[in-house]
This record gives sequence, structure tokens and C-alpha cells, in this order.
Amino acid sequence: MNPIDIRSPFRETLHRLTEDCRPVTDGENASYIPSLADVDPDLWATAVMSPEGDLYAFGDVDHEFTIQSISKPLVYGLAIEELGLDTVLERVGVEPSGDAFNEISLDANGRPVNPMINAGALTVHGLLQEKVGGRADDLILDGLSRLAGRRLDSDREVGEGERDTGFRNRAIANLLRSTETITCDPLQVFDGYSWQCSIKLNVCDLATIGATLTTGGVHPVTGDRVFREETVQWILSVMSTSGMYDSAGNWMNYVGVPAKSGVSGGLFGVIPGELSLASFSPRLDEHGHSVRGNAFFHRASSELGLHMMRVTGRPHGALRHRAVVDFDEDGIQDTTLLRLYGDIDFCSYEAIDREVTRGAASGTGLFVNLVEVRSLAPKAKELLEELLMAAGEKTTTYVHDPANLLDHAACSAPQWVDQAEIREYRSDQPERRPPRKLLRRRDARKPGPGRKPAAKSTAKGSDSRRKR
Ligand code: GLU
Repeated sequence: MNPIDIRSPFRETLHRLTEDCRPVTDGENASYIPSLADVDPDLWATAVMSPEGDLYAFGDVDHEFTIQSISKPLVYGLAIEELGLDTVLERVGVEPSGDAFNEISLDANGRPVNPMINAGALTVHGLLQEKVGGRADDLILDGLSRLAGRRLDSDREVGEGERDTGFRNRAIANLLRSTETITCDPLQVFDGYSWQCSIKLNVCDLATIGATLTTGGVHPVTGDRVFREETVQWILSVMSTSGMYDSAGNWMNYVGVPAKSGVSGGLFGVIPGELSLASFSPRLDEHGHSVRGNAFFHRASSELGLHMMRVTGRPHGALRHRAVVDFDEDGIQDTTLLRLYGDIDFCSYEAIDREVTRGAASGTGLFVNLVEVRSLAPKAKELLEELLMAAGEKTTTYVHDPANLLDHAACSAPQWVDQAEIREYRSDQPERRPPRKLLRRRDARKPGPGRKPAAKSTAKGSDSRRKR
């Protein structure tokens, strides 16, 4: 069969946005070391990756640049994994500083206010050196390579330039040692941090690293779990509040995506569970962010509706369909059918709770179908099990959960059934017909609360399942 090319409006949209930003030529390359100052300022690349690992990349996609401050949230994540959150929090706070990246500041407890400013990033690097008892380069390079899904390397020239010119970072490292925020050799920490900033990658690597955060820590292609979900939550939180330094507030309001920039011109953002975006363009604004990258993210957010705080009024999932039906053509509505779907968390669980309790209160049996549920957050699982137990004790409750999202053994009261349709369940498996309880209730039925004859349109309606 011949392959057929059809348009991909998704790809075209991203390509157009990339080209729309090409004319943005404001700003200047970082100039503190020649190897950044001399980079072609017109280089321009963008990349987007889905949580399934589909990559959309445009422009100078193979050009490698140094990671610089983009390493900060990632090494912070490695430190949380290696040392535990509490140990890291003892040494570095999570308050936005509103200061520039290289501000020399500590909070009242002697901790750097967050891991995105250099004082915090040097401390995090120092924690890893304390852990390994020397340079932590291998641990860091391994971690970042796993996030990218390929072996990364460092740029020797940039690393040396960082060391030769990093008088302020050296001063910060010494300050941190004097307050015992770090307990190892401050110059070794400074050297190691300078090297960390010089790790090379391209825009596709950056989008891939973002996608690994998007999924909650699992590389979308290799399947390698690099971070626990809780670690990713901390990484994305500090990126949201401090990733863009003294423009973090504006960034969050206008773009609304946790992000991190680096002085070589890289920028990446993560929409949890949905997409990662990355860009590279060397010209910087006064905050040290890529001007063109900034324009790309602003446009992408407003045109594509990426802002995390956008209120759509749509839940992620819960209740796809609810019907109250009569299976016996007697005009008595006897079963509430609930079809659940999607990713159910505590908030979306509310609708299920409401309908199950309402159904039980109206005297109907229940048929709860989970076949379209993709995930159940731990709290939603716990509450749904409690709810179905309670319902099962009071009324006939069938639950169809083929993926075993719920703990069937621990949750004995509802009847777990194999068929998605109660009609099929009753007719195909006569030996497993619903217990007499349901039928007995019908004998005693009298119109009354919750037992009123269904209106024609509801009772018959278009729901063929009611006929047997
Ligand atoms: N190497 C730079 C520094 O720490 C990184 C700064 C940045 O990318 O914002 O001074």
C-alpha cells in the first residue's frame, strides 16, 4: 500500500508559531564568556513532546547549547531522590525571591531562599558532593542523561570559561561554607557547579527532559523512571514560583506554565500530564531569558490556551453517563446506571459520590461501570471503595471493573461482574442472574418516594438495554 501524506494541523500550528517568532531579534547574547558571546545569535529552534514521546521539532534542532541554569531544577530533583526531601529542605527553601539569579542572599535560617537562584543551586550541588564524598559529576551526568534518554556530555570550553569568570559564584560558595549551609570544600562546589552549567544538549533533548517531567518522572520512550511523582511535584512547584527569577510573577500570569531558562538561550516549560515545550535562541533580555523563546512561549500560551490556571469548566473525568432505568417493563425505575471515565481524582470523584448516594437514596439498585476509567488517584480509589462498600450493603450494587482498578478482595459488598451491560449480564449468564433481593423489592413496590413510575420518555427512551 502506498503511504499517504495528510496534513497535520498540530505540527503546522507549531511550525507557524516558530516562524512567527523568527523576526524577534531584540536582546543580546550572554557576554561574560566568549564561547557564549560568539554563538550565532540567529540560531532558532523549538520542540514540543507529548507524554507518549511524539516529538515535533523545528529550526536548528541539532544545534547543541549548554544547559546553564536549566540544570538547577533537574539537579534539585536528583538531590531529592538521593538524599530525601527533608534533608534538601533543611538546606534550601522554596520561597520565590524576586531577586536576580546571582543575588547573594540567605533567609533568616541561613538557607538560600530557593534552589533556582545560584546560592540555592550551589547548595544543592554541594549536597550531592557531600553525599558522594567528592565531585558529583558522574551522578549528575547520569541523571540528566537518563532524563534525556541519551548520553549527554559537557562543553569543556564553556566549563572553563564559567570557572575563569565566576568570581561571584565563588563568593557565594564561600558565603555558604561560612554559614555551614554547605560543609564540603566551597571551591570544589564552585568548580562542580560551573561544570554542571556546561552540560551540552539540543532543543529535542530539552523537550524530552520536559516530557519526562510531564509524565511524572518516567521517560516517555525508554520507560525509565528517573524521578518519583512526588519529586516531580517539587521540581515543577519551584519552577512555577522561582524558575524565571525576578520575572517569575509576570511569567506565571502571562504564560502560566512552569518553566526554566538558561543564559545560553535555552528555555523549557512543562504542562503536567499534557505537553512539554522547549526553545533555543541566544539573545537575552535583562532578566537573562531568551527574548525570542519568551515570545514563543507567550504566543503559544495565549493562542493555544496552555495556561495552567485556565478554567475550562470541564472535569478530567468521572461520570460520562447516568441513567435510571426499568428493566422489567413495569414502569418502575429500578437501577441507576453510572458510566465512569477518564482520570478520576478527589475533585472529580464528587460527582460519583453524589450520584451513587442519590441513586441509593431513591431506592434503586446500582450498576457502576469503570471500563472507561483510565486512572484513579489514590484518594479517589479509597473513597470509591468505601462508597461502593456502603452502597453494596444497602442496595444491589453491580460493579464492572475489568482492569481491577479497585481492590475487589478488600471490597466485598458490591457484586463484581464481568459484563459491561447489565442487560447482557442478566441474559447471557442466567446462572448469575441478579439475586432475588432485587426482584423481591419489586413485589412490594408501590409508587412512593424513589419508586415512582418512570415517565414514558425516561422509562423507554432510547436506552435499548432496558428490554430483555
Ligand atoms: N552559569 C550561569 C551562572 O550561574 C548560569 C546562569 C543562568 O543560566 O541563569 O552564573
